[in-house]
Amino acid sequence: MTRGSPVLIAGGGIGGLATALGLAQKGIRSILLEKAAALGEIGAGIQLGPNAFHAFDYLGVGEAARGMAVYIDQLRLMDALTADEITHVDLGDDFRTRFGNPYAVVHRGDLHGVFLKACRDSALIDLRVSSEVTGYDQNGSSVTARLANGERVSGSLLIGADGLWSNVRKQVTADGPPRVSGHTTYRSVIPTEQMPEDLRWNAATLWAGPKCHIVHYPLSGWKVFNLVVTYHNDAPEPVAGKPVSDEEVMQGFGHIHARAREIIRHGRNWRLWVLCDRDPTERWIDGRVALLGDAAHPMLQYFAQGACQAMEDAVCLSHMLAQHDDYAMALDAYRAQRFPRTAKVQMLSRAIGEHIYHPDGEHARLRNAIMSAKSQAEWRDDFAWLYGGTGLNS
Ligand SMILES: Cc1cc2nc3c(=O)[nH]c(=O)nc-3n(C[C@H](O)[C@H](O)[C@H](O)COP(=O)(O)OP(=O)(O)OC[C@H]3O[C@@H](n4cnc5c(N)ncnc54)[C@H](O)[C@@H]3O)c2cc1C
Repeated sequence: MTRGSPVLIAGGGIGGLATALGLAQKGIRSILLEKAAALGEIGAGIQLGPNAFHAFDYLGVGEAARGMAVYIDQLRLMDALTADEITHVDLGDDFRTRFGNPYAVVHRGDLHGVFLKACRDSALIDLRVSSEVTGYDQNGSSVTARLANGERVSGSLLIGADGLWSNVRKQVTADGPPRVSGHTTYRSVIPTEQMPEDLRWNAATLWAGPKCHIVHYPLSGWKVFNLVVTYHNDAPEPVAGKPVSDEEVMQGFGHIHARAREIIRHGRNWRLWVLCDRDPTERWIDGRVALLGDAAHPMLQYFAQGACQAMEDAVCLSHMLAQHDDYAMALDAYRAQRFPRTAKVQMLSRAIGEHIYHPDGEHARLRNAIMSAKSQAEWRDDFAWLYGGTGLNS
């Protein structure tokens, strides 16, 4: 690859910033082109599996990222109809020893801030805002990104980290719009004192009910709780971040236990997303252009892994570009390593939505029986393929 000419990155989300940092670790310059007028993230939480911590270390932000995480004790699964615990996964010493890293939750803004500061501190990264990439042209020696403002920016490669509605994907893969799942998610962040006192658990808790589920966990040094509630209401159109009333959110949860409903009652300033994903496809690469993160493999959030997988992508891509002098071999090796793993997370995310988060009746009783019978060692074995990943293995 042409070392002198920078790599272009479309998108300044977690995937794009992680890519810029990964490339800088290998001495590769980049120009990051972000559509928005400012770089930032929405005010909500994010869960981080142990695989994310490996990526933080590789990207040079391990210490800063560890400093702003809340280290939860458990992943807890509750039955939203009975308010009984179905099972939990201990995240203590045995879990950390097995995976070499903890499981944690962070505020997205805090995490994005850590990445942004590291990017700003690097002389190898040029961050540009108000720079929407609309398409690209390439020849034998370079690729040129076309911007909505009429500018053209050239580099050795273009990485499309421009999210679910990626313009870069439109040209690379040309597979139409994402699939609308029909699942509606509402998000809110509330002060800890507004969370029912008996539910202030140091856990990522999921209440599973017929066609709905609720997730909550503490954030930002326990100052706030993140609430995410999802309702499978067959919503037909994609929506992202629309403000909605408290009453509208409550509508999908009349059938669950009062204790679970109570959590939703405390939410404020709710915003709505109709979730989208895609079927996996290997068409991530077009000459000097490659996709990464949600642009490559958008998934439902049910494994809490979209951002973790985007960071693993950044680790793998940087590693391959440093390993191979030939850019085509590097991009091919990146895709070969990342595609099977991310496709598995995409497909299993849909499956756990159907079989763990939303079942009813006999289906739910079967879930409870299977999941409550597992030992802690079995849980760790079940998660090994996911949390044991690093971006450098598959
Ligand atoms: C409700 C919910 C909960 C989630 N929880 C978790 C979780 O707990 N753990 C986890 O790991 N993941 C989680 N995810 C998934 C995670 O948020 C995404 O997978 C991750 O943010 C993807 O990062 P990205 O950088 O690929 O894309 P994005 O975050 O979408 O970033 C894309 C960036 O590109 C910019 N952009 C868009 N188009 C262009 C363009 N044409 N030119 C230039 N810039 C452009 C955008 O403005 C944005 O800044 C969750 C998702 C949802 C919806």
